[in-house]
Amino acid sequence: MLVVEDVVTAYGQIVALNGVSLEVHDGDVVCLLGANGAGKSTLINTISGILRPRSGCVVFQGENVVGLKASRITDRGIVQVPEGRGIFTQMTVHENLLMGAHLRRDTAGVQSDIDAAYARFPVLAERRAQKAGVLSGGEQQMLALERALLSQPKLLLLDEPSMGLSPIMVERVFDNIRQIAATGVTILLVEQNAQLALEISSRAYVLQNGEMTMSGSASELLQSDLVQDAYLGAA
Ligand code: ATP
Repeated sequence: MLVVEDVVTAYGQIVALNGVSLEVHDGDVVCLLGANGAGKSTLINTISGILRPRSGCVVFQGENVVGLKASRITDRGIVQVPEGRGIFTQMTVHENLLMGAHLRRDTAGVQSDIDAAYARFPVLAERRAQKAGVLSGGEQQMLALERALLSQPKLLLLDEPSMGLSPIMVERVFDNIRQIAATGVTILLVEQNAQLALEISSRAYVLQNGEMTMSGSASELLQSDLVQDAYLGAA
């Protein structure tokens, strides 16, 4: 579904991705691990078209999307939930959900998907008329996920969904990601919480200093010394 090949992305003189390749197959949950500054957000932003790579390809469903505007890439089904969530704080919860569905013409389908979102997260229903900016961090994360789902993504890019959340909220958000994956949405997940991320993933990659240093099945990586030492806190 997605093939990233030999991508180089730089900020001026700073090369943040130095020849990075990765594959995501249809229906997979793939996680991308790496320390702060490894280049994870840069890779996600390169795939979604926010950043343009200096060289290399990003092929989505057979088409090289490098150079397309981010909005065109979203239209093709790659939907990003950015770090920090990117919800519209001055709009209501309900308006945020509708924004996720703005390209859809199936009004009845949109309504039933919004009902499903409210059923999954009753707190969003209770606060549907409130400005999204007053929600807690965890509620904003749920809203961002649900808004992304309303656009019926083929590939969901999640950048640090657990960031800044309490342990209970982290569990809920991961449960939700698991449910989303079970509906067949393909997911590329960037996470600092390696243990939880690997538990819900089928495959994983490790990015270090802008280079991919490891990849394999999630269970292989869970057992690898490198991942154990660097990301799972083993001695
Ligand atoms: P984090 O978990 O801290 O977000 P990350 O793995 O997502 O880390 P990136 O944010 O992709 O890492 O950053 C990769 C490298 O690019 C870092 O060295 C960072 O300092 C640099 N970088 C990121 N954004 C910019 C920018 N706007 N301008 C210049 N350098 C940047």
